[in-house]
Amino acid sequence: MRRNRLGVFILVVLALILTACEDKARLEKQDRADFALNTFITIQIYDEPELEEEQWGALFTGIRDIEALLSKYDDNSEVSNINDNAGRDRVKISKTTYEVLAFAKEKSKFVEGAFNPVIGSVTSLWRIGHDDARVPSKEELEGVLNKLDINKLSLSEEGGSYYAKLEDKGMSLDLGAVAKGYAAERTKQKLKEMGIKRALLDFGGNIVILDEKQPLKEWKIGLQSPFANRGEAFMFVVAGDEAVVSSGDYERFSVIDGIKYQHIIDPFTGHPVNNEIRGVSVIAEDSALADIYSTSLMVMGKEKAKAFVKEKKLEAVFFYSDGSYEALLKEDRKNGTL
Ligand code: AMP
Ligand code: MG
Repeated sequence: MRRNRLGVFILVVLALILTACEDKARLEKQDRADFALNTFITIQIYDEPELEEEQWGALFTGIRDIEALLSKYDDNSEVSNINDNAGRDRVKISKTTYEVLAFAKEKSKFVEGAFNPVIGSVTSLWRIGHDDARVPSKEELEGVLNKLDINKLSLSEEGGSYYAKLEDKGMSLDLGAVAKGYAAERTKQKLKEMGIKRALLDFGGNIVILDEKQPLKEWKIGLQSPFANRGEAFMFVVAGDEAVVSSGDYERFSVIDGIKYQHIIDPFTGHPVNNEIRGVSVIAEDSALADIYSTSLMVMGKEKAKAFVKEKKLEAVFFYSDGSYEALLKEDRKNGTL
């Protein structure tokens, strides 16, 4: 896969422990970083026991295993196998892939199609963030807009085996909007199984906090401003054992003939999203769900997204193109500018 480095902006989120005066030892950390899922991944542990190298290896291998199942850019992945067999055969898949697909399908309906895991036919035409990104013709787009029916992703379980099929030829899965969030959540579970009670995971803007030591929300998570330099936090939210996941037009984009096109596609038009929202951060218990929501809110646009957050009692911070921001958070959640 060719990567357009200039087009890939990694959201850097700063995390600080608020009550630093408590016991100092807990601030000592063990950490590792690596590149996977097309992003930088860091895992910081603020707890004992010290992990063995083998355990660190297992954490990152686990992430790569998920990528190897779900990446549409890996010809050997299960997702590629499903895509290659669209309109033909059902494909036997792992329980992991089945779980992600079932979750994605259910949530796609919940967000009324704003997040659509069968967006692959459209993203393959645009190839935003890649060296060969281009603007597809009207005819090309019209040819794929009828390949986006989530009900035509068939999932089944038979005698302990799992299967998936895309019913129409030309349909294609793209799990880019949920894979990082899912992998981060799974990694959190693995850390727990290793006996770790406090850690911070950053999967390129998908922040997951593991904190079983403190019932209080005591992590101060800095949110990247779409307008500032990379790594410059603009404001913060306080979070506990939960996830803070961001999507934005600055994360991945391509400039074609002087026009900037971002990587999030409106499934109803087939065009890259272009509305007042430049970035959004969602706070939720589950990072896979927060990942789906952050992408969905970008697609919905300001008014619909705000109404959705209120109706479903979600928590989100929106960054708008005029430079303002709006935090729709629970009353007791502290937040503010830095
Ligand atoms: P995220 O960074 O989580 O917002 O996910 C964006 C990625 O998900 C893109 O790079 C595409 O691979 C894919 N994608 C783009 N638009 C959509 C959409 N409307 N629904 C689902 N996935 C999408
Ligand atoms: Mg997402």
